[in-house]
Amino acid sequence: MKIIIHGGFFSESSQSMATKIAKQQALRHVVKNAYDYLKTHTALETVAYAVEQLENDELFNAGIGSQIQSDGKIRMSASIMDGESTKFSGVINIENVKNPIRVAEKLFPTEDRVLGGEGATNFARAHKFEFFNPEIPQRRKEYEAKTGSKSLGTVGCVALDEKGNIATATSTGGKGFEIPGRISDSATAAGNYANSYCGVSCTGIGEDIVSTAVATKIVTRVSDGFTIDKAFEKTFAELKAIDGFAGAIAIDHKGTIFHLDSHPCMVFASFDGNTLDVFE
Ligand code: ASP
Repeated sequence: MKIIIHGGFFSESSQSMATKIAKQQALRHVVKNAYDYLKTHTALETVAYAVEQLENDELFNAGIGSQIQSDGKIRMSASIMDGESTKFSGVINIENVKNPIRVAEKLFPTEDRVLGGEGATNFARAHKFEFFNPEIPQRRKEYEAKTGSKSLGTVGCVALDEKGNIATATSTGGKGFEIPGRISDSATAAGNYANSYCGVSCTGIGEDIVSTAVATKIVTRVSDGFTIDKAFEKTFAELKAIDGFAGAIAIDHKGTIFHLDSHPCMVFASFDGNTLDVFE
């Protein structure tokens, strides 16, 4: 059993040491908690559980604490993928729900598995996800000052369960100030992808992640025989060629945990039952 989570990026130049410590603590707590959960649950159940906890923490840009778009509204995106069946489900630009990842999970057994905008919000209401405004005062202040938030804080999780199945989940509040209707990478195969060989969750600039198809490429390369480090190396070289900004976390079928970022530094934590590794 292995697990890795991320909480977007941290920037030394624009964020305080107190925020860094708070993020480290939050990730340590969630990764341990989710690892315990993984002992009695599948990888798929566990990634939703971990991401839900990260969405509930306003330190991160997903669920509560999401960024505000240019028209003053919050629209969130989240997806979940099961490596064994290669089934993917997600919501894009959903509004006024507490946990977008739980709506994505609800769509998993359905036929129409990726819903956008009003359709996603209507689906949530029809399945008893109550109205919930995820806005926090700090985000409104940043919106009004037109500064935007100082960090990107998308969240994600990759888990490998006892049976050897891999799953991934990713959730975001977007990049802030975007044109309404802009689509994040987080609920696409470029930002969140898994098969029976590997699972990857990304954070960073969605346009760069989609241009490079980061998660899909890493997973495909591992499936085709690349080692996970070589799969990352080649994909991040392609990202660099477009001057892209991204980070990604992964686990392969052998249980190798891996992560890489194009810029300092992606906020992550991993746990394998013995060693807890957290970003510094
Ligand atoms: N990838 C997200 C997006 O572009 C943002 C992030 O990772 O913080 O919507």
